[in-house]
Amino acid sequence: MAVGLTQVSKMMANFPQFVETGKNTALCSIHGEYIQTTYKNGRITKCPDCERENEEQRIADENTKLKEEAEKRKSRRIDELLGKSGIPKRFQDKTFDNYQLSEDNDNQEEVFNRVVAFSEEFKPSSEESKPSQEHSGRCIVMIGDTGTGKSHLACAVASLVIKEYGGTARFTSVSEINRLVRESKGYNAKYSETEVIEAFGNYDLLIVDEVGIQSGSDAESRALFDVFNARYQNKKSTIVISNLNQAQVREALGQRIFDRLKEGGGEVLVFHWGSHRG
Ligand SMILES: [Zn+2]
Repeated sequence: MAVGLTQVSKMMANFPQFVETGKNTALCSIHGEYIQTTYKNGRITKCPDCERENEEQRIADENTKLKEEAEKRKSRRIDELLGKSGIPKRFQDKTFDNYQLSEDNDNQEEVFNRVVAFSEEFKPSSEESKPSQEHSGRCIVMIGDTGTGKSHLACAVASLVIKEYGGTARFTSVSEINRLVRESKGYNAKYSETEVIEAFGNYDLLIVDEVGIQSGSDAESRALFDVFNARYQNKKSTIVISNLNQAQVREALGQRIFDRLKEGGGEVLVFHWGSHRG
């Protein structure tokens, strides 16, 4: 059933806020003259330009606030997600100084010197610059038997980056990356897979331990690739640690990642000497 205009007016009469009682010209100190309408309930319209500007400002403020809150939530989630450096307790106090070089082992000394040289590239040239801006982003692949000090030297670099150079570093493992990615897909996940990849992609230094024969799903292999890819795009350094030999590491990571790790001065360091732990 159609509703006529007269009917609408009659219905409106029941709502005093819609019943006009007068119009007059008013003056806005900013926008000049405007038509002011008075309603039966006592409401008087204000300058329409001021009203519009106020509304626009309110929406802008609200958007800024929402954006800030989202940013805060995101960094909080990533903090929760990745925690601190992730450096295992027994490696937290490892430095170059307390790394024991065996006597008459040129191979070991050479490897040691190369890792020290790699670490020095993180040193910011001035107080204003950040370690990540100084480093070429080249990577190191540490291979060799357990107990040869790979984690010790890698963590010594991480400690320097964090404590001395004011940068960010994270120690992780293939299984941790896989677990976080798996959790990100779960019901009630607090973060997305993209956030996991992004977080790992942004450290000045990332150490990826336990690179072995992958037993993960395709999705997990892809996530690992995405982490390496994000770091490559961001020109961030990665240290890969593995007990496998070079050919096996290449197979485990895939040719493409392996090639990128060696790009631009990237090195494969072979830790081939007796175990420190004995
Ligand atoms: Zn106005």
